[in-house]
Amino acid sequence: MEKIAIVGGGIIGLTLASYLDPKKFELTLFDDGAGQATKASAGIISPWLSKRRNQRWYHLAKDGAAFFPKLIQDFQLDETIYQQCGTLLLQPAETLSELASLAEKRRLTAPEIGTIQLLDAETVAKKIPS
Ligand SMILES: Cc1cc2nc3c(=O)[nH]c(=O)nc-3n(C[C@H](O)[C@H](O)[C@H](O)COP(=O)(O)OP(=O)(O)OC[C@H]3O[C@@H](n4cnc5c(N)ncnc54)[C@H](O)[C@@H]3O)c2cc1C
Repeated sequence: MEKIAIVGGGIIGLTLASYLDPKKFELTLFDDGAGQATKASAGIISPWLSKRRNQRWYHLAKDGAAFFPKLIQDFQLDETIYQQCGTLLLQPAETLSELASLAEKRRLTAPEIGTIQLLDAETVAKKIPS
């Protein structure tokens, strides 16, 4: 049987290990116990409105976000693991429409963005009274 070693038991190493068929591969996962980014992560998955110019980063992050519903389905996880609850982006009024256009453009290749709404200050205050 082919042997595979995965170094690192963060979200990447564990996801990879979960998808490899143990009937086909002898799998060993090594982790030095330090626990790095996954341990610290805030758990927010919303890469679509990033203005980073690095297209490779954007495609990696976009595809990662699109993969989550599949991960949830494949391992029958519930909403304590992943929940689509929306993203509220606060910006000065003059940059909001530019951002909305970017979102509309990106939704063409990332339909998981969902509905895009421009909210005024009053509506935001109603949604988040605090
Ligand atoms: C403070 C913070 C907040 C973040 N918030 C978000 C967020 O809200 N949303 C988001 O999408 N992303 C967020 N990120 C980024 C996200 O957490 C990382 O992209 C992701 O967790 C990386 O996963 P990984 O498995 O590649 O790495 P890691 O989780 O770092 O896993 C690497 C593992 O390898 C082990 N290791 C390292 N070196 C060795 C070695 N030599 N031998 C054996 N084991 C080793 C470590 O112990 C660790 O467990 C955040 C990151 C940080 C630091």
